[in-house]
Amino acid sequence: MSNNIVVAIDGYSSCGKSTLAKALAKKLHFIYVDSGAMYRAVTLYFLRNQVNLKDEQQVALALQDVHLNFHSRDYETHITLNDEEVSDEIRLMPVSENVSAVSAIKLVRTEMVKQQQRMGQSENIVMDGRDIGTMVFPEAQLKIFMTADPKVRAERRHKELLPKNPEITLEEVFENLAHRDYADTTRVESPLIRAEDAIILDNTNLTPEQQLQFALDKLAPFLNNG
Ligand code: C5P
Repeated sequence: MSNNIVVAIDGYSSCGKSTLAKALAKKLHFIYVDSGAMYRAVTLYFLRNQVNLKDEQQVALALQDVHLNFHSRDYETHITLNDEEVSDEIRLMPVSENVSAVSAIKLVRTEMVKQQQRMGQSENIVMDGRDIGTMVFPEAQLKIFMTADPKVRAERRHKELLPKNPEITLEEVFENLAHRDYADTTRVESPLIRAEDAIILDNTNLTPEQQLQFALDKLAPFLNNG
């Protein structure tokens, strides 16, 4: 068995998972993988190619045409879909509104999980998502389950989206988060649930620095042993 360290960060939409995951990866020189970006890029491909989500054969064929790659120059998420940089487009509303339906499809999940597990086979890695501690890396040394007040989450995400999408309203963002939380926690395939051994981190009133320190403290025993 390889002895690389895996940190799994799961939680609701716009809880600050990627902010913490990036900060932690940067601090420890681990690889950072934003698993949500993968589901978003698949969604973009399906939208562009009008894939019928109910048609298994179409979905399977489309998945064969989806080639995703991460370029993590600076711990930001740079993802390509068939060699096209799509990092900005996958954050826009058409993708956000459809990603939960796409990520509920078993075939899609099986393929993404396979790719994610490969990435964490031999490297120290921080991955954030919805099922990282439960399905992708059930053996992760550290699992964090993040949560925060829904209003605070919507405000944070709204602020983040405004520069690229000045039309977007706080209500739209709030509705989208609520919709995705509901869809993600109630789906049949790998619903968002806290792994039994995941530590809860409610960051409603915590600064990014406090969250990073929290994670570093929890990880310290593994780092010292490594
Ligand atoms: O993390 P982010 O909010 O970008 O994820 C977008 C969507 O992708 C989530 O709402 C969820 O439907 C899906 N997702 C998932 N499993 C993951 C990561 C994301 O189902 N591991």
